[in-house]
Amino acid sequence: MRITKNHVVAIDYKLTDDQEQVLDTSEGSEPLWYLHGAEGIIPGLEQQLDGKQLGDHLEVAITPEDGYGKRDDSLRQTVPRDQFDDNEELKLGMQFRVDSGNEPLIVTIVEITDDTVIVDGNHPLAGMNLNFDVTVREIREATPEELDHGHVHGPGGHSH
Ligand code: ZN
Repeated sequence: MRITKNHVVAIDYKLTDDQEQVLDTSEGSEPLWYLHGAEGIIPGLEQQLDGKQLGDHLEVAITPEDGYGKRDDSLRQTVPRDQFDDNEELKLGMQFRVDSGNEPLIVTIVEITDDTVIVDGNHPLAGMNLNFDVTVREIREATPEELDHGHVHGPGGHSH
């Protein structure tokens, strides 16, 4: 069986940056399950996995354009400290959702001073080259229900 649209795929992966720092890995936990062709993983990786078979091993370098996008400096904003609830303990790396007018945006706190909080709406991996080391662990056909929902059910997927 080859990986094509409407197949459920499990991969083991290791993601490193250009300095060979490990950013994320499935080692020590379950493989990542996704529905191929449903934009469940970044486009560059999905393209590279297309047509692959069980046990195939790939090393792929993905540019920001095919990954989490380029950084957009306008998404970095300074917010007065008093706009936050006094009782809320603010920490670096905290993420929350803001309504920016059109789409809700997930922002991360990147700097805190006495008077201001700097939040960044870029994905933490935006603007980075992503180096994936991937092994295909399982391939199966998606069920009609999975195709209807656009995601994987059962082990490694949604349990509703
Ligand atoms: Zn579902």
